[in-house]
Amino acid sequence: MTEPRVLDGAATAAEIRAELKQQVAALGFTPGLAVVLIGEDPASAIYVRSKVKACEELGIRSIELRPDASLTTEDLLTIVADLNSRDDVDGILVQLPLPKQVDTKRVLEAVDPDKDVDGFHPVNVGKLQIGQDTLTPCTPTGVLEILKRSGIPTAGAEAVVVGRSDIVGKPVAAMLLQANATLTVCHGRTRNLAEHTRRADILVVAIGKAGFITADMVKPGAVLVDVGINRLTDAADVERFFPNDAKRHETFAKRGSVVIGDIDPAAFAVSSAYTPVPGGVGALTIAMLMHNTVKAAKLRRGLK
Ligand code: NDP
Repeated sequence: MTEPRVLDGAATAAEIRAELKQQVAALGFTPGLAVVLIGEDPASAIYVRSKVKACEELGIRSIELRPDASLTTEDLLTIVADLNSRDDVDGILVQLPLPKQVDTKRVLEAVDPDKDVDGFHPVNVGKLQIGQDTLTPCTPTGVLEILKRSGIPTAGAEAVVVGRSDIVGKPVAAMLLQANATLTVCHGRTRNLAEHTRRADILVVAIGKAGFITADMVKPGAVLVDVGINRLTDAADVERFFPNDAKRHETFAKRGSVVIGDIDPAAFAVSSAYTPVPGGVGALTIAMLMHNTVKAAKLRRGLK
């Protein structure tokens, strides 16, 4: 069998950012992205820093708001209403998770759907379902984008999505259907999961379980898209999943953990192409947020 192709998310993201930079320069105005970060969650702070940096690189104005973590739902609704009405704000991102006392659903639903660069607002979820051009969630949009840019045909393909969360599984399923794939969605209550996954020409996995999809669950020659991001902290697991991967062992020795997706790396060998973890789908998410910000800026002004 021929060597599988690695679908390089970092390279695709760089390509998308370069295109966006040109588009932004040609707009004649500066798009603005407001990011609301509440609390001290270190992972959220890292994400927000990367988002602000990406904005700077592309010529997008970033507006960072860091209200006090003790704020109420009403306080946050007031902040969102202000951002909704500001003309210099094209995109609004409320970094999750929110503090316990805040009603996340109410806050996300208060964001103007035209500025909803996360694509989580029910109006945008509905538009995606009926195939209207709209702002769609970043990670699933990245999945479709890497397939498209890698020349992997979706029309007529058997696509199987494992996972049905609102932020990954369901939107990626809607997008694959829109792209004319024949779609199966599997989840925690699916019987005989392997029977479904083995039929897939394109298998997208977003469940949050380290190396869960094994080589025997994959059709030889399938395209594997691994959305999962998990951490292995046990040396025996690192040995089991990465027996011959000196680099991972080195990382584990240095940091005490290594990242792995939801697909057992041994399964990549039977595929025709796969997205690695890290450096696959995850590397595209911020580029797709930038894409959505530019798209929102254009849509609001009636530009194509
Ligand atoms: P959720 O926990 O919200 O959803 C997991 C889904 O997987 C559920 O639908 C669940 O089914 C299903 N599932 C769990 N176990 C099984 C199983 N044994 N068989 C079949 N289905 C199963 O996770 P998310 O969608 O938020 O995230 C999934 C993964 O993707 C995580 O590793 C996360 O870190 C990663 N991720 C990566 C992103 C990026 O690259 N930027 C962005 C977002 C997520 P049920 O509904 O029945 O419970």
